[in-house]
Amino acid sequence: MKVHNADIVISAVSPAQYPDTDLPEIALAGRSNVGKSSFINTLVDRRNLARTSSKPGKTQTLNFFIIENALHFVDVPGYGYAKVSKTERAKWGKMIETYLAEREQLKSVISLVDLRHAPSVEDVQMYQFLKYYDIPVIVVATKADKIPRSKWNKHISVIKKALDFDEQDEFILFSSVTKQGKEEAWAAIEAAMVR
Ligand code: GDP
Repeated sequence: MKVHNADIVISAVSPAQYPDTDLPEIALAGRSNVGKSSFINTLVDRRNLARTSSKPGKTQTLNFFIIENALHFVDVPGYGYAKVSKTERAKWGKMIETYLAEREQLKSVISLVDLRHAPSVEDVQMYQFLKYYDIPVIVVATKADKIPRSKWNKHISVIKKALDFDEQDEFILFSSVTKQGKEEAWAAIEAAMVR
């Protein structure tokens, strides 16, 4: 998709604020620093639609972006925030889980992992959670430019094994530096939108 129009709709702190439309939604999840903002910005050809490197400990919101009046990207706050209190984390965890498990407009979740590392416990939990609720997942392995091509396959198998990856899901190698995977990601999103 060639994106001409992309805007933030709302940073929601409660379900009452979620946009009241039937547009398909694609959520994006991953631990902080995985490259989620860079991924969104690359897909929509913007330098700074999603803020890069949001600071840990900040208020966490579900950020809805409208793309070409055709779909919403829903930026799920990066997990792994050490500085957020336990109570706050539990409250947020619940809100995100409810969104993912119950939102009718949700078509697919893009789960971002860092190609360089084995998935974290939270990465695995998120993937298994999505599988439990039968939500189609697009796994995007970021920062592919930081790994030599000859080692990609080894890193891919480590990630797939740890996730217990379902081969029905998409797995895409991505780099916001080289733009590798951009077209493949859009193809997967467009396929998910019409499911
Ligand atoms: P977020 O916290 O998940 O939104 O991550 P950001 O998009 O802010 O990226 C975190 C850091 O990783 C920043 O310094 C980015 O420049 C860097 N980064 C993100 N994606 C890539 C990538 O594909 N390749 C490389 N080399 N660096 C990346």
